Amino acid sequence: MASRYQAPRGTFDVLPDQARARARVEATAAGILARAGYESIQTPSFEDTDLFERGVGRSTDIVRKEMFTFEDKGGRSLTLRPEGTAPICRAYLEHGMHKLAQPVKLSYVGPFFRHERPQAGRYRQFHQIGLECIGTASPLADAEAIMLLSDLLGELGVPGVELHLGSLGSLDSRKAYLDELKAHLHAHEGDLSADVRERIDVNPLRAFDSDHEGTRGVMASAPTIVDALEGEDGEHFAEVRAQLDAAGIAYVIDPTLVRGLDYYTRTIFSFVCDALGAQSEVGGGGRYDGLIEQLGGPATPAVGWAVGIERILLALDEEEAAAGRDGFIAVGDPGQRQRAMAIAVELRNAGLAVEVDLAGRGMKGQLKHADRIGARQVLILEADGSAQLRDMTTGEQRVADTGNLVDEMTGGEA
Ligand code: AMP
Repeated sequence: MASRYQAPRGTFDVLPDQARARARVEATAAGILARAGYESIQTPSFEDTDLFERGVGRSTDIVRKEMFTFEDKGGRSLTLRPEGTAPICRAYLEHGMHKLAQPVKLSYVGPFFRHERPQAGRYRQFHQIGLECIGTASPLADAEAIMLLSDLLGELGVPGVELHLGSLGSLDSRKAYLDELKAHLHAHEGDLSADVRERIDVNPLRAFDSDHEGTRGVMASAPTIVDALEGEDGEHFAEVRAQLDAAGIAYVIDPTLVRGLDYYTRTIFSFVCDALGAQSEVGGGGRYDGLIEQLGGPATPAVGWAVGIERILLALDEEEAAAGRDGFIAVGDPGQRQRAMAIAVELRNAGLAVEVDLAGRGMKGQLKHADRIGARQVLILEADGSAQLRDMTTGEQRVADTGNLVDEMTGGEA
């Protein structure tokens, strides 16, 4: 039957088969992050529009083109969150977390919203797992954050992952570099795409991202920030690299790395995966030492990343096997249905995964269904109060001790 309604463009339903694979990704991340001392935080799905305009940056694609913005009944402008860092920094300030022992280490998982052109690996509602380490400028924090994302992708088995690493310098050195880059772009204006040319003075870094042939030619000879790093910025980047080297994490220095958010300073990184095609980034992040001050707080250095759950699943391209059931309770006689439910409840309370027939099937149909849902054993209740236990792998059947069903079903190991 064709459905009259469909999920909105760029969104999708997560059906049970896919939900299992997602649950594994989330559980793996939760374990890795908790062991490193990251605690979970949840912020609302929407925020004041101004938070993202200030935090993410007015010149970015996200703010210019991709936000789901609406007015509430009180005339306030709200926006479905396109990313997690600005909201978490807002929460950090709002709850006075700068008074806690620093750094504050937070992790999150949830839906994000961007009005992008949908394609494989790019949706209008997608899900990220992320972390923020707020309140330290130490390069160790950058390295640890990168190591945790590397661990996560490794433990999940995401194939063909490559880590790209760069540094944008501090806000001051970045400004000097940007002036140099703008001068280079202005000197070659005629070869640039219209889009890049119009934004030379607004966002010259984006020129590195362009697919336009002329622009790419101009960028091949453009000055790079990694070469321009000086003093403490250079030392900071060298220490991040030394830590990663010591941990045996491979990376390529990518002087053209830019990320679509304005708040990054110093370290930036991106994990890419060939299996993903055009949308090749599985996750990434960086340091954002100026963001909290930008939002009205004290100067507070921080670093973080986000990884796309859908991109991880695309790269893994495998389905999680169904979990199976410990047992199914079949009734030879419809009069036994209530008893079957009572026994199921007792077994569930003892920790077993047990189902009963809810569809009024005959005995043959019940056994077939038990097999379909992966039940390892079927308890068959007889009208005289006795019961048989059938092992679904061997097909063997024997009389069950109805006074001790938990032990019967677990082989005494419950
Ligand atoms: P960003 O917040 O832009 O740094 O993105 C971090 C990660 O989120 C990316 O590496 C992707 O895995 C994921 N991501 C970003 N935008 C989308 C989208 N529109 N659809 C699916 N995943 C996305």
